[in-house]
Amino acid sequence: MFKLPELDYEYGALSPAISADIMQLHHSKHHQTYVDKLNAALEKYPDLQNQPIEDLLQTLDELPEDIRTAVRNNGGGHYNHSLFWKVMTPGGSQPTTELLGKINQEYGDLETFKSNFTQAALGVFGSGWVWLLPDMSITTTPNQDSPISEGVVPLLGLDVWEHAYYLDYKNVRPDYIKAWWGVVNWSKVSELAQKS
Ligand code: MN
Repeated sequence: MFKLPELDYEYGALSPAISADIMQLHHSKHHQTYVDKLNAALEKYPDLQNQPIEDLLQTLDELPEDIRTAVRNNGGGHYNHSLFWKVMTPGGSQPTTELLGKINQEYGDLETFKSNFTQAALGVFGSGWVWLLPDMSITTTPNQDSPISEGVVPLLGLDVWEHAYYLDYKNVRPDYIKAWWGVVNWSKVSELAQKS
């Protein structure tokens, strides 16, 4: 059985970048629903219930066909959101010099990286995510697809589904992204980069 992870901060702690209303809805309703539907899909397959979510998402092709899409969407939703909560922190935090060095090497400076990442996020048509990968490349995925399915552990992910920002920003995705940079937990991203 998969479980909704607890947040390391209160629902209102990321405000005004992300309001308490959005955080509560996003975590306790949207993410909870992914967890519930993932568990429902695995009900008939007890052997799969104790596998790490990373393993399920890396072996989608080997899963029983009747649950493959449900695991891809809801397992992906569970994995992606679990990372998303961790890479945010009230007030944001700073990258280590090691990670900053890698970013600078690839992009020149942090501001240029942020600008490229933002452009990628604005380019996601409909619902999806934008990611920073361990090789310092930026990529996007549609729906709840995740780089983990390709065997790549993402370091930073931004949810650009409308449910992530519509209550606060209506349709204005650029304002959401601009505010989001202020709550990025760069020390967590650095920690993940070190492990990758
Ligand atoms: Mn979401």
